[in-house]
Amino acid sequence: MLGAALALGLVGCGATAPLGDAVQGAADERPQEPILDDAATDAPAAEEPEEEQPEETEPELPEIAIEQNFVEEFSHGPKTAEFQKYIVLHDTEGGGTPYNVIDGWVSDGNHIASHFIIGKDGQIVQCVPMDQIAHHAGFGDAGHNDYYGTTDESRDDKLGTTPIGDWAPDYGMNSYSIGIEMIHQGSTDEDYPEAQLEALDALIAYIDAYFGSESQIIDHKAWRSGNSDTSPEFAGYLANYQATRTHDGR
Ligand SMILES: [Zn+2]
Repeated sequence: MLGAALALGLVGCGATAPLGDAVQGAADERPQEPILDDAATDAPAAEEPEEEQPEETEPELPEIAIEQNFVEEFSHGPKTAEFQKYIVLHDTEGGGTPYNVIDGWVSDGNHIASHFIIGKDGQIVQCVPMDQIAHHAGFGDAGHNDYYGTTDESRDDKLGTTPIGDWAPDYGMNSYSIGIEMIHQGSTDEDYPEAQLEALDALIAYIDAYFGSESQIIDHKAWRSGNSDTSPEFAGYLANYQATRTHDGR
């Protein structure tokens, strides 16, 4: 989970226009429009006129259903492909839906979020574009910027950050990674549902294709010692992801 407790409030999300992120899957026919509710992704998009393409050559991305609910205050600076090195996996340490989680992040006012949240049923919601820095990793152990090669923090506006002590001054992971949050309460939920794991498989493949490289997969506690996530019951899946980029080692 992220730094603060996740209050699952009912405050509406401050969704805003996307910031140039490539969009595929259910929303891929209309990349200039944010999707503001979870029903919208089922709407057919084939009749939409062809949108103007960005100047850069678009990578060929796998089909995947991602619901976009961008919240502008969660974006903390630009992150181009050259700065993409890691995918950091998290547990929310709570229940609910991805939209509940986003509402909680908005309510707590810390400008903290992961790029993606995956529900237990496999629903994927994105609240930060992939070309933007998100504060999902927070502060890490002293020396971890050097260890992980994440020393350039200059692109991060650091807005809303509160240092947690001299033992964990490093903040670079946020600038070099994509954060994925799984709805999961560590050590009380029995296991990660298959639908959730299959969605994570697909999302990792999507992120790889987007950036044109395979980011190293780590979990949050690797960045910050003593962190709860990912949970012990994820350890076998993490090993499979690190070896094969799928939960089951396919
Ligand atoms: Zn976390």
